Amino acid sequence: MPRHSQILNPERHSELGALPAPTDWQTLEPVALLQNVLRLTAPNPGFMTGPGTNSYLVGDPLTGFVVIDPGPADADHIQRLWQAAAHPDSSGGNIRFIVCTHSHADHSPGALPLQNLCLQSGAAVPAILGMASAPTARANSQFIPDRAVHHGEELTLSPNALNSASASHTLQVIHTPGHAANHVCLLLREDGILFSGDHILNGSTTVIDPPDGNMADYLDSLDVLHNACVENHAEYIFPAHGHALPNALGAIAHLKAHRLKREAKIAAVMSANPAGDPDQWLPLAYDDVNPRLWPVAKRSLLAHVERIQMLQMTPSKP
Ligand SMILES: [Zn+2]
Repeated sequence: MPRHSQILNPERHSELGALPAPTDWQTLEPVALLQNVLRLTAPNPGFMTGPGTNSYLVGDPLTGFVVIDPGPADADHIQRLWQAAAHPDSSGGNIRFIVCTHSHADHSPGALPLQNLCLQSGAAVPAILGMASAPTARANSQFIPDRAVHHGEELTLSPNALNSASASHTLQVIHTPGHAANHVCLLLREDGILFSGDHILNGSTTVIDPPDGNMADYLDSLDVLHNACVENHAEYIFPAHGHALPNALGAIAHLKAHRLKREAKIAAVMSANPAGDPDQWLPLAYDDVNPRLWPVAKRSLLAHVERIQMLQMTPSKP
């Protein structure tokens, strides 16, 4: 069973899709969510990033740390990440790997400066891991890791032989295309925690922006995450934006139902006006959403239209 019964900081949470703005965000200190998981939020709050990008440190001073999503190349945030990854003597830079969940500008550009900081401080240089951005990625979302990870791979942090009483921490890589073609989630097996990157958020809705984003892949990846959570008894989701989500399976089911409901609404609008175009369908299909969000919603609408048309061509696929 997962170890996380000793979760340190049970967080107040909101329903997926609810408006965010928790007022208690701060970016200066790491927040201990578990004994072996720290969250440090980057100072990049905004329309698309909510309270800012959550960088996570998994590990402990005896095993070293994995940094998940170093975030934007913000020098102060990178310095704080370096400091939070403490050695047993409290000096920083005890980083074994840096993993980027995907290539977007609020997730991966901090990787190189963090690696450089380790190099300059004389610490062992952590490899930057992840999947290379696909040819469909936008110009500001290019990413090439030092080493590509693959689906199912495990990244293990083990204590050195002298400290063998300390526990290991194992992150399983799960390829989850949909929000971005090169998106991966990470499942901390011993604790049953899913690091969901941008695939699942808390307080905002993931944008699916074709062609690098793909709605059919997104929904399939939700099924993959459901199965991984069942297998590993995962109960919590730690997203890249927003608070931790309890009830992982419930959150995944809610999200899938929300997407399918929106898709049904779009399909109905399209069949009522088959000669129309996305700009005509948008206000009807998203009449419950603030028009300020329509330019972003249009990207996801196009992703749904792509999937609806694909299903019409292959009606046997559920
Ligand atoms: Zn993203």
